[in-house]
Amino acid sequence: MPKIAALFDAGQAVLSTFDLDEVLKRILAIAHDYFHLRNVAILLLNGETQQLCVRSQIGWDEGQDMIRLAADRGITGASVSKKQPVYAPDVSQDPRYICAAQSTRSELAIPLMVRDEVVGVLDCQSEQLNHFDRETIELLTLFSTQASIALENARLYSLERQRARQLEAINIIAQQCTAVMELEDLLTRVCSVIQQAFQVSQVSLLLREEADLVMRAFHGELTPCFPASGRFPTTELPWSEVMDSSGTVIEKDLSTAPEPFRLFRESVSRMSIPLISFGQTLGVLTLHSSKVNAFRASELQSLEAVADICANSIQNAHYVERVKQLAYLDGLTGIFNRRFFELRIMEEVERARRYGSTMAVIMADIDQFKRLNDEFGHLLGDEVLRQVSSIFHQQLRKTDVVCRYGGEEFALLLTQTNAEQAFVVAEKLRKMVEKWQFPGVPRAITISAGVASFPLHGTNRDDLVRAADSGLYLAKQAGRNRVCIPNTAEAASNGR
Ligand code: GH3
Ligand code: MG
Ligand code: MG
Repeated sequence: MPKIAALFDAGQAVLSTFDLDEVLKRILAIAHDYFHLRNVAILLLNGETQQLCVRSQIGWDEGQDMIRLAADRGITGASVSKKQPVYAPDVSQDPRYICAAQSTRSELAIPLMVRDEVVGVLDCQSEQLNHFDRETIELLTLFSTQASIALENARLYSLERQRARQLEAINIIAQQCTAVMELEDLLTRVCSVIQQAFQVSQVSLLLREEADLVMRAFHGELTPCFPASGRFPTTELPWSEVMDSSGTVIEKDLSTAPEPFRLFRESVSRMSIPLISFGQTLGVLTLHSSKVNAFRASELQSLEAVADICANSIQNAHYVERVKQLAYLDGLTGIFNRRFFELRIMEEVERARRYGSTMAVIMADIDQFKRLNDEFGHLLGDEVLRQVSSIFHQQLRKTDVVCRYGGEEFALLLTQTNAEQAFVVAEKLRKMVEKWQFPGVPRAITISAGVASFPLHGTNRDDLVRAADSGLYLAKQAGRNRVCIPNTAEAASNGR
């Protein structure tokens, strides 16, 4: 009768909860109580390391509960290789025996099987010699099947839960990605959602810029230790491998790699997934862990799905940025258009007002451009416009704004510049153009310019543009190929 009672109890234990630790504890308690065993343990087999690790135990000495054994050693190892129960009625006579508890006299190891595969071992040790009779061995073998079922159920259940969590994450990421169109914003959010959903230490996003990958966003708990530029040549490992193969690269143990190679100080394993959109590798999504060998192939599918969504969103954000840019660029010359000038002058005036700084506007116009067109044709006129634009663009600072205001007229915005400084700049441009050899034009081409500055000539857009225009008008009146600053009285009265 105790036989049936034990099996019944074990069955109940298996069915009662999905919590693996709880099930194993109950199974072990039953084995311990019904069969009067000193030590019972369930060891799980790690397929990768081929080690048996104690997962749950009763009665083992302190310090022995973390024990790891090679899967081909000891009585437990023998049961793994044989895929059958192995019994040592007198452990002192069995050369395979490895001592884990001094009091053990006999040991029975029963493999835990799922289908044809060994997933672990139920290890029973007794203080008595030859403690296990045939019937007990049979019963414990039946009993071990219950443990196997519990293990398999718990594994499937946690896999299911993990899948559900990941599906939910994919859903959130897809939603976030479509909602966010600003690239910077998108990258940061993606990192944070992935980090939370996949419970990794750190997530980073590197995007391709010519021959480099550039760190564009990261989120997590690790300490960054990559170069300040955040640039990594795509010819270097591991990036070359990801980019060349267009496949995911898992690095199991980076603990001996130099810090900059790890990107984050505490990162010791890493998964790098290429971001591919329409066959183009846009960058790499990297997941970092502070644990060795933290990334499983089972997560790959979900993460690659996430990477696909990200890649498409990044591509979309690129397009949006490009379209926005196009709306502010002049088609012929490639410099900014008047719409952009109007936007920026408002911002620059506001900034100068707020910080009590200066800023200047230069209006420049090509002299006798109509005649040039008439003499050499429109196409050459177009080329002159492009070359003058390029001279302006190259001569000014990065913070200055060069716009085609219309026709052969240009508007330049110079930040933190007063009227005299702007005059010097305009003079430099005028001389450059005058000296420039325009292909196909056997004579000099000249420009005239008017200069106005904040706050001297005005403290709003209209007054500043009017004053600069007025300076330009003065320059044309005075014979062209010159720069004029209107005096403040003229600026007020000479509006065109
Ligand atoms: P001024 O010295 O007084 O500025 O004389 P101008 O001939 O330069 O000025 P005007 O305003 O009389 O003529 C401007 C000419 O610029 C007329 C127009 O055909 C030409 N133009 C405007 N936009 C373009 C363009 O995109 N390409 C070319 N080739 N010509 C253009
Ligand atoms: Mg002109
Ligand atoms: Mg003009």
